[in-house]
Amino acid sequence: MLADIVEYLICPVCRADVRLDERTLRCAGGHAFDVARQGYVSLLVGSRPPGTADSAAMVAARAEFLDAGHYAPLAEAVAEAVREHTGAQNVPLKRESSTETNDGEELRAYRGARMEAGYGVGPAEGPVSDRDNVEGDRAVGRIVPVIVDAGAGTGHYLATALNAVNDGIGMAFDVSKHAVRRAARVHPRVGAFVADVWRPLPIRDGVADVVIDVFAPRNGPEFRRILRSDGAVVVVTPAKTHLSPLVEELGLLSVDEEKERRVARSMEGFAETGRRSIEFDMELGHGDIVQVVGMGPSAWHTDAADLDERIAEYISRNAMRKRHKVATHAAFQLSIFEPAPRSRPVP
Ligand SMILES: [Zn+2]
Repeated sequence: MLADIVEYLICPVCRADVRLDERTLRCAGGHAFDVARQGYVSLLVGSRPPGTADSAAMVAARAEFLDAGHYAPLAEAVAEAVREHTGAQNVPLKRESSTETNDGEELRAYRGARMEAGYGVGPAEGPVSDRDNVEGDRAVGRIVPVIVDAGAGTGHYLATALNAVNDGIGMAFDVSKHAVRRAARVHPRVGAFVADVWRPLPIRDGVADVVIDVFAPRNGPEFRRILRSDGAVVVVTPAKTHLSPLVEELGLLSVDEEKERRVARSMEGFAETGRRSIEFDMELGHGDIVQVVGMGPSAWHTDAADLDERIAEYISRNAMRKRHKVATHAAFQLSIFEPAPRSRPVP
């Protein structure tokens, strides 16, 4: 997969073009980044504040939660938004690129790998239409949609989105190498990179059709730079009633009222051109609750032992159907942001 993605990357140190040389990404300036055994590449440069990346245990628990399908309606909504904004794939030959290097043999290998991996992404997997046209489209030089997930975690949302898009490649960025290791295997059309989304992204200007940002840092200026002029950013944030009544019962802080304004500020230069609410109910056990609280706003992060105790008390008060689960509401806001000059404001 990396061979198909390298043309969109730039050197994180000097911003020059990079090429894949065996198992190493190299720029003309002599900077080199090895492809890890697990298939990802660390493009992290400089230092970052300690404790900002998810640990192996956090990543494993999160993967388990997502694989269980608790957030499937959200993943499907993100995928649908991505699909709606990758219409450009049907417009032939808009970009002069080096895709000519994808000769027939590479394409066959690429396609074979995709079939072999079976597009598996758990419960959100859906039918993909027109797969047979993909190879033909690529062979005649049609544009392949590029989907960037900034703060991709395990790549769960990106993989679901790729399954909804006819063709398209995914670039997963996360500051946690544990997350990126998983993202590298999440889908045959994903390339995964360790990078800090707060820093300049190692991505060429104007190549992304869609940037996905699910509960992740929003680097508005960089999103703007890497996005095509007709591209879109899909931003998901928790809504006010997210995890009610859990939040109240566990004595956690509610989602801060300033959130909406903070989202708008971070996306300066964009116009919000679409917005929808995604709400559904979940039945969560103790482990799920620990996980879902950890996935929420950092304000919820609290002393682990204390939280554990509060969850146990809450479950014993509310145990339903003798399965020791509690009904919990999920509520998100999904917003579409498009580069401002071409965009219409929300009616
Ligand atoms: Zn360089």
